[in-house]
Amino acid sequence: MAEYRGKAIVKGVAIGKLFFYSKEKGQVRRTSVTDINAEKARYESAKTEALRQLGEIYEKALKEVGEENAAIFEVHQMFLEGDEFNESVISIIETEKVNAEYAVARTGDNLADMFAAMDDDYFKARSADMKDISERVLNVLMGGVNDNTPKEPVILIAEDLAPSETVQMDKNNLLSFVTRLGSSNSHTAILARNMDIPALIGIDIDKAWSGKEAIVDGNKGLLIIDPDSDTLSEYEAKLKKQKEEKELLKTLKGKEDVTLDGKHIKLYANIGGVGDVADVLKNDAKGIGLFRSEFLYLESDDFPTEEQQFEAYRKVAQMMAGKKVIIRTLDIGADKQVDYFKLDKEDNPALGYRAIRICLQQPEIFKTQLRALLRASAFGNIAIMYPMIISEDEVLKIKEISSSVKEELKAEGIPFDENIEEGIMIETPAAAVISDKLARLVDFFSIGTNDLTQYTLAVDRQNAKLEAIADTHHEAVLRLIELVCKNAHEAGIWAGICGELGSDLELTERFMKMGVDELSVSSARVLPVRQKIRQSKAFS
Ligand code: PEP
Ligand code: MG
Repeated sequence: MAEYRGKAIVKGVAIGKLFFYSKEKGQVRRTSVTDINAEKARYESAKTEALRQLGEIYEKALKEVGEENAAIFEVHQMFLEGDEFNESVISIIETEKVNAEYAVARTGDNLADMFAAMDDDYFKARSADMKDISERVLNVLMGGVNDNTPKEPVILIAEDLAPSETVQMDKNNLLSFVTRLGSSNSHTAILARNMDIPALIGIDIDKAWSGKEAIVDGNKGLLIIDPDSDTLSEYEAKLKKQKEEKELLKTLKGKEDVTLDGKHIKLYANIGGVGDVADVLKNDAKGIGLFRSEFLYLESDDFPTEEQQFEAYRKVAQMMAGKKVIIRTLDIGADKQVDYFKLDKEDNPALGYRAIRICLQQPEIFKTQLRALLRASAFGNIAIMYPMIISEDEVLKIKEISSSVKEELKAEGIPFDENIEEGIMIETPAAAVISDKLARLVDFFSIGTNDLTQYTLAVDRQNAKLEAIADTHHEAVLRLIELVCKNAHEAGIWAGICGELGSDLELTERFMKMGVDELSVSSARVLPVRQKIRQSKAFS
């Protein structure tokens, strides 16, 4: 048994196998071979192993997600045993005298392209299956190096994780994250909080740990590898208790978000996409206070079209059935990089070309998003908010663009909510200090404490070395929040918090007293925050 101490960024306990995540996928090389029969035999044995793995996954899926969902693994087995796949691999090995890896990869690509080009939606969807199947065989042939995402529930260990990598992982397969780099306010930490899984940073990861049994203690910041039986039983009991506490919190579902002395709070949840709405509803949030729309861009290989965005926003609005859905416009840049934006390398990306700055300099990207948002507003209770504001001038420019898009839609006879609320995020000290002026221009404020803290304290939220001085309770930040609430109320608008600080239970009562009207937190934090609001006083 070995123990490693790091910093806990999401509390809780997880028990499971470690899985080392490497950013480098194994490169498939084309090499000439002299012994064709040996190469064919390598392929046959890799195929047998891949079929065995699929059988195992099918049985597991059958138990966990039912026959309908498990059936896909039978389909994979069928394709892998089918003539088309096998004849292609064998023929490439024989005619080109090349290695099995190359033959499998090319077969997978060819068949995937062929399916993708078909008209029928069912066959189109089989394209991804072809890639999956060939990757599975490749993994076996290459000794696992090509497989860089977990296929079963694991504790993921990595040097670092970018948000674009995290969002692409199957959330059902993540019990916990442990990384060397990262910080509590990084987007990967936010995603861990959204998924409600314990997470640690600051541990010197060794890839040789992959496959070992381990425990993550997100309360003490501990990673325990190869636990002895006493430790394991101790943590199994803690895990059981954790589950029971979560059950207990469920009794708060349906209850009002009101303080002991009668102040009503809008308790909303943060999401990154349509897939997160189920958790919002499950945890009984009364709305969505921050939809980080940039995840639509992060998950995509090219700019999402107006239609693709419209579909996503409409779906969320409809699933929320009349509850408020506040969608933040694109906040790309800094740690959220997307290749197809072709952003220049910057010395200070957090202070650079990002978020609303991109939108105002490249209005065609902004207008596409605004059209999609406004069109979706006809299907639910959508509000729009703009990130990274520093001046009145920016807000006036935004309003001009937003008005022109509304005029365009009217001229085209396309319906939208003409009374849609438009607010801004307060995440720069500049915006907080001039919030009296900004309040006259917008319908609401949502305080992004992650960035507000980074800019107020001049502490890079991505830098693991600065964790010790990144004081989230710093008086300067708290005073700015109070000022923003006061200025909002004087102008007759509401103010909320959608940064991570919103779910800090040590501050809930203080926020109530400051007059915070809304808290938007990770879905998993909704019920704990509700419990705290109901135990707090706002007026004394
Ligand atoms: C924030 O800065 O607090 C915020 C909510 O936005 P993000 O974390 O996505 O930068
Ligand atoms: Mg922010």
